[in-house]
Amino acid sequence: MEHTAKVVSHGPSGLLQSDELYDYVLTTSVYPREAEILKELRDAIANHPQSYMATAPDGGQFMALLLKLLNAKKTIEVGVFTGYSLLLTALTIPHDGKIIAIDVDREAYEIGLPFIKKANVEHKVNFVESQGLPVLDKLLENQENESSFDFAFVDADRANLKNYHERLLRLVRVGGVIMYDNTLWGGTVTLADLSAVHPMRQFAWKDTIEFNKMIAGDPRVDISQVALGDGMTICRRIC
Ligand code: SAH
Ligand code: CA
Repeated sequence: MEHTAKVVSHGPSGLLQSDELYDYVLTTSVYPREAEILKELRDAIANHPQSYMATAPDGGQFMALLLKLLNAKKTIEVGVFTGYSLLLTALTIPHDGKIIAIDVDREAYEIGLPFIKKANVEHKVNFVESQGLPVLDKLLENQENESSFDFAFVDADRANLKNYHERLLRLVRVGGVIMYDNTLWGGTVTLADLSAVHPMRQFAWKDTIEFNKMIAGDPRVDISQVALGDGMTICRRIC
């Protein structure tokens, strides 16, 4: 019983063994270094009914480190919500960096927009109100966009993960990184069938498992799946 309760957890500890351990990571390594404006955004959306969808600060810190290791300048984000990961990216890339940020929900983006403005990074953000796939396809119509991006973050609809992957492997340069969020899906990926999955986690359970299998067998990328947040898979384009 204990095990089943854990794998369908939506609790604050994420996938870690205890809330105390997660709190330790946050208070020791993350919060002391989190930009003030990101804290302000987190506070502002704390009471939003879907605030759990925002990238957790520990996952964000990892993402910022990757962006710096890559010297990322041009990035794509699919799935903006209220913009925690977007603001974090805009704060991390250089002054002349650019982010194409795609989401069907402009209203959510506009909740975070004042914080992007306050941080003086709005000039780096190109928000596109749209489904992700047509925007990526449109970018691919112009050959100049091929292999021109350093980094992509995918945090949107799970049914399209494979489609995003194919497009992003052409848009992101060799050596660049594609990062997928929520790839452990609340720990439910270990469950044997859908009936054992928490109702809130059922809708993309199968897509996530299939995507994980596909990525593990994809020779075009180096990968690492980490248990940060809800699970993140980092892919580096090899060829
Ligand atoms: N990265 C965000 C969280 C994203 S939550 C943060 O750090 O706060 C997932 C988002 O994906 C939602 O805002 C939802 O509107 C968006 N989304 C869902 N399906 C989509 C699609 N097909 N194309 C683009 N965005 C989509
Ligand atoms: Ca997410």
